[in-house]
Amino acid sequence: MIDSHCHLDSDQFDSDRDAVIERALAAGVEKMVAIGTGNGPPDLEAGIRLADRYDCFYATAGVHPHDAAKAATATFDELARLLTNPKVVAAGEIGLDYHYDFSPREVQRDVFIEQMRIAAAAQKPIVIHTREAWADTIALLHQHWTGSGIMHCFAGGPEEARQALDLGFYLSFGGIVTFPKALDIQQAARIAPADRILVETDAPYLAPVPKRGKRNEPAFVIETARKLAELRGETLEHIEAATTENFRRLCLRYTQ
Ligand SMILES: [Zn+2]
Ligand SMILES: [Zn+2]
Repeated sequence: MIDSHCHLDSDQFDSDRDAVIERALAAGVEKMVAIGTGNGPPDLEAGIRLADRYDCFYATAGVHPHDAAKAATATFDELARLLTNPKVVAAGEIGLDYHYDFSPREVQRDVFIEQMRIAAAAQKPIVIHTREAWADTIALLHQHWTGSGIMHCFAGGPEEARQALDLGFYLSFGGIVTFPKALDIQQAARIAPADRILVETDAPYLAPVPKRGKRNEPAFVIETARKLAELRGETLEHIEAATTENFRRLCLRYTQ
C-alpha cells in the first residue's frame, strides 16, 4: 500500500522514526509520501530529507496555508527549483485553512494561487489542504488550476466529493472516515469511483479507529483501507491494489 500523506519529519518521531518505518514496511506499506511543509519557509525540504535518506519515501514540497505569511519571493523561487527534483511527486500541502487562520486569509489565497502557478509550470499535481474554506478552495481551483491533484484527508460529503471529482481530483481518505459519526464522509467513500480513491494517515495526526487518540503512524493506514473496503463492499486487497495504482497514475507519471 501507499500512505499518500504523512509527516514523519515531525519531532514526535524523533525517538523512534526507524522503528515506525520498519512497522510500516512490515504491515505492507511499501511507500509513503513525506509531506514537505515542515515548520514552514524558509525550509521547504523536510520531505526531501526523508526521501534522500530512505528509499520508501516520495516527497512533496510546498507552503502550508498555516505558514502562508512566512512566504517570500525567495520561497517561490526555491519551490520551483525543488519541484524539478524527481523524488518530489507533487506540490503540497497547499490550500486554505480558515479554521485556525494562522495566516491572514488574503495572504493564504495569494500564496495558494502562486503555488498553483509554480506547480503547473513544473507539471506536478497538487496536494490540497482545505478546512472550513471549501467554497473558496473550489473557486480558486476553477480559476487557477487545470491539472489534477489530491484532496488530502477528504472530509466532505457526496456533494463535495462530486465537485472535487469533476475537477479531476482524487479523494484521499484518512483516519476520520473510520470515526463512527463521520456519516457524510463515509457516504462519499461509498460513491467515489474506484479509480479516484487514495488512502493516507496524515501521521502523527488523526489516527484511525481502533488506534484513535494515539499517535498516528503509516502502518495504521491499513485500518483506513479496511474501513473503505467495508463501506464499499470490496475486499481489502482490491482497495490496496486500486489505491496503489491510482497513486502511481497520478503522481509517478513524470518521475518514472
Ligand atoms: Zn493538512
Ligand atoms: Zn498534512
